[in-house]
Amino acid sequence: MDIKYIKGIGEARAEAFRKCGVAKIEDFLKFIPRAYVSKVNISEAKNRLGETILVFGEIVRVEKGFRPSHPVVLTLSDDTGFMNIPVFGKSEFRTKQFRLNENYLFYGKVSEAFRNTDVRMDYRDHLRIDPKDENDRGFLKYSLIPIYELSGVLKATWVRPLVLSKIVFNAFKKIASENPVFAEDSLPENMIAENGLISIREAILRINFPNEFEDIERARKRLSFEELFYLQILLALKKRSIKNEVKGITFSSDIRKITDNFIKTAGFELTGAQKKVINEIYSDMKSTHVMNRLLQGDVGSGKTIVSVFGMLIAVESGYQSALMCPTEILAEQHYSTVSAFIDKYNRTAGTDYKVSLLVGGQKKKLREEILQDIRLGKTNIIIGTHALIQEAVEFKNLGFVIIDEQHKFGVMQRAKLKDKGLNPDVVVMTATPIPRTLSLTFYGDLDVSVIDEMPAGRIPVKTYYRQDEEKPKVWEFIKQKITEGKQAFIIYPIIDESEKLDLKSAEENYKHLKENVFPEYRTGMVHGRMFWYEIDETMQDFKKGKINVLIATTVIEVGIDIPNATIMVIEDAQRFGLSQLHQLRGRVGRGEDQSYCILIAKNLDEVSKKRIKTMCGTTDGFKIAEVDLEIRGPGEFFGIRQSGVLNFAVTDLAKDRDILMKSRKTAFEIIDTDPQLRKPEHIGIRKKLMTDFRDSLYLMNIA
Ligand code: ADP
Ligand code: MG
Repeated sequence: MDIKYIKGIGEARAEAFRKCGVAKIEDFLKFIPRAYVSKVNISEAKNRLGETILVFGEIVRVEKGFRPSHPVVLTLSDDTGFMNIPVFGKSEFRTKQFRLNENYLFYGKVSEAFRNTDVRMDYRDHLRIDPKDENDRGFLKYSLIPIYELSGVLKATWVRPLVLSKIVFNAFKKIASENPVFAEDSLPENMIAENGLISIREAILRINFPNEFEDIERARKRLSFEELFYLQILLALKKRSIKNEVKGITFSSDIRKITDNFIKTAGFELTGAQKKVINEIYSDMKSTHVMNRLLQGDVGSGKTIVSVFGMLIAVESGYQSALMCPTEILAEQHYSTVSAFIDKYNRTAGTDYKVSLLVGGQKKKLREEILQDIRLGKTNIIIGTHALIQEAVEFKNLGFVIIDEQHKFGVMQRAKLKDKGLNPDVVVMTATPIPRTLSLTFYGDLDVSVIDEMPAGRIPVKTYYRQDEEKPKVWEFIKQKITEGKQAFIIYPIIDESEKLDLKSAEENYKHLKENVFPEYRTGMVHGRMFWYEIDETMQDFKKGKINVLIATTVIEVGIDIPNATIMVIEDAQRFGLSQLHQLRGRVGRGEDQSYCILIAKNLDEVSKKRIKTMCGTTDGFKIAEVDLEIRGPGEFFGIRQSGVLNFAVTDLAKDRDILMKSRKTAFEIIDTDPQLRKPEHIGIRKKLMTDFRDSLYLMNIA
């Protein structure tokens, strides 16, 4: 049915609804309220000062203001009392709009009474109610009224919040009268029962028009289960299709030989967690199936070194390995760490492996040479940025791929690098720990390895919060540590490195610190608008101890390793996100001495307070990630809002952990036992996948 026939819509509004993606009457079934407002008696309203509520009553008085700028004051009455409602706007128009002795629903905030009524309302919206109209009477039966998000087009056509609520109600009425079972369950009955869920019809109805408060959560749970279940079905199908249908490389290297030479080269024992993860990677690599693994571990837990081990397994079997990083600086840093390690390894093992770097800004001639080396197999380990997935890059035999994510690469880019090889094994490495709920959704088709142990001898960093006024004491502390031979970072927030204003203030601060605070010491500065070799030079100087205090922006967030730097001061700490603060703190505490992280901030709002409290309370990256998820939500957490996978209508990953676990377990069990979804009880699921998830099936290559 055309939506223009729904009461309250009509031709013009129908067009606006269509522009918002509501074309058929059934589209209203997908609506989810943004909030619910409770309807109360006027006498009850007195107890609700400051709250936003609804009241229903008859207008018994309409009083014009003395001047045009004054509000029209309405007096509303129900059986329990009187309420004043001042309404601003053109008084002529207002007096026509509100008619004496007619019935209205009013929506607004309750405030102190004035003059002689019981209570007053700060007007937000209203709806005229016709007691003779059946739909109007039905709408009034609900004591919780849904409020929906109004997008631009609808606002422009004068659809007010309560008008929209009423339209949705009318649409539901219409749908239910024409087809009493308007939504059929796609999930089998026993699954619904086992998971304590209500029917989908009931859920859709009650999320919009709850009879009681508890209905909302029951309905939300069911819809969230549905949402997560289908995502997990897709992930299970994807995982299965990679594992079973594609044959991977069987690496045949001598793991003992690699281990012996590796330990000799590294000069330290691997932690238990590193060994466990290396075993997981190795057993995948020597098997026939294709590895798709997520490697998680806190900053400094030794992920890089584990990934090098994986690369060596491939290289020793005669294959190439590639490592893709999100930025040039990071690629550069990985390149210098890895090539230094491989140089030493070559000497220990008597091998002749070559490491190459491929990034965007390289000279044409050099680039041609590198491309040729890659093509002919003259180089074994290739490290680079997006440059690696360009058309021109052809590998001789890419067998192992590592993607250093920091959540920056999309599924497509990951797939592209993979396609450069012949079903290579893939490890995705994340620089910050991800809460389990997120990794099971965003990376739900991957196997997960976690390095949950720090190398021995690491002392947890002590973290303190200091007010702006206490800075001189902080500088004194740094000076004292410098005399003990230590080094310090001072970080300034340049969130966007192209922000001239921010850069200017960081540079001014640098000048101030250099000339007035630390004149007797050597200072240096790095920021993201310097060339990488300039940054590298300064970093090298810092590493060699030629610089005592390094003033920096977040460019130093990743990778670098300077054990002698034991102090990390972060200015304007309120401007950083939690995982960024954690990442920055990870730059210290890498040696054998006690390290300190000092967060300087002012004007803390609630969220910043929570962040700083969390930072001072724990050094556990996984705990920090959970709080971060709570604060920012999943999309922001990854810094990619457009990610379809995380656009949930009702699910809140910070809260719905149980539902996620249950739906994942159920979905994976079903795909395990009935991968084609041929069993009679799974037909509904199959049908829904084919209709509602066509695009996803295609995108994920599992159609
Ligand atoms: P991540 O990539 O997880 O941040 P890295 O692999 O860069 O960590 O390791 C951090 C530092 O710790 C490096 O200097 C590395 O050489 C060192 N390291 C790694 N594993 C160990 C270990 N088992 N024992 C001692 N030091 C280690
Ligand atoms: Mg690293």
